[in-house]
Amino acid sequence: MNALELEGQVAIVTGGSRGIGRAIAEALADAGAKVAVIGRNADAAVTAAAELPRGGHAGFPCDVADPAQVNATVKAVEEQLGPVAILVNNAGITRDNILIRMKDEEFDEVIAANLKGAFNFSRSVSRGMMKRRAGSILNITSVVGLMGNAGQANYAASKAGLVGLTKSVAKELASRGVRCNAIAPGFIRTDMTDDLTESQVEGLLHQIPLGTLGEVDQIAGVARFLVGPGAGYITGQILAVDGGMVM
Ligand code: NAP
Repeated sequence: MNALELEGQVAIVTGGSRGIGRAIAEALADAGAKVAVIGRNADAAVTAAAELPRGGHAGFPCDVADPAQVNATVKAVEEQLGPVAILVNNAGITRDNILIRMKDEEFDEVIAANLKGAFNFSRSVSRGMMKRRAGSILNITSVVGLMGNAGQANYAASKAGLVGLTKSVAKELASRGVRCNAIAPGFIRTDMTDDLTESQVEGLLHQIPLGTLGEVDQIAGVARFLVGPGAGYITGQILAVDGGMVM
């Protein structure tokens, strides 16, 4: 039997306790990785890690927006599971509002979690990856970062920021054997999109050539490919997984 393509590799998945991150954590565990599930809620992170296939995973409570917590968490992951080979920056939040009503906190919280969080984790794992001359970083951005969206100036700015972060990290670390890519999901069924009304969903479906919302597994399969050896010659790319919304 062929070895699994991520056998024994340690993968950090931020926001791995539910939604897209949980599906990615499952896909990487299925591929043989030992997964560190990161979330603010400790119980949810530990429970999600315990439910992943193949065993050997662990959950860690951490707010990605806090650099000190992130550095301490990466240290704890390396002590418990081993050197980090894969980082998936997936944790994200929305605080939607129209521009003229958007509060400073709403803007700052979204940038801190979605953009600074990815920077914090990327900075923290990259020294080890560069030393080992191997590693793969995957950022979860959004079609909203590519197209913009009324009522989401903060979220769109954070996700557009991730595009620049992805390309810069890819260029900076390529010579050390470390790749960095991003997935830009369209509208995927999770807690984050559960709040959409029937009429909002109807409106969205008109913009999606494939005519349906996406499922978390459709993002997870692409994530498994992009962090793995089959994508060994791909870096600095933003791959839309969105039913054809952006083309
Ligand atoms: P979700 O169901 O709301 O899950 C978010 C995850 O992130 C949870 O595990 C949450 O755990 C964690 N999280 C949030 N803030 C955090 C923080 N400051 N520190 C650590 N963990 C944090 O979201 P989702 O729909 O799966 O979305 C996942 C990612 O995909 C996000 O980056 C989102 O922007 C992106 N995305 C989603 C869609 C969509 O349609 N769903 C589309 C495009 C892009 P805790 O609450 O315990 O911290």
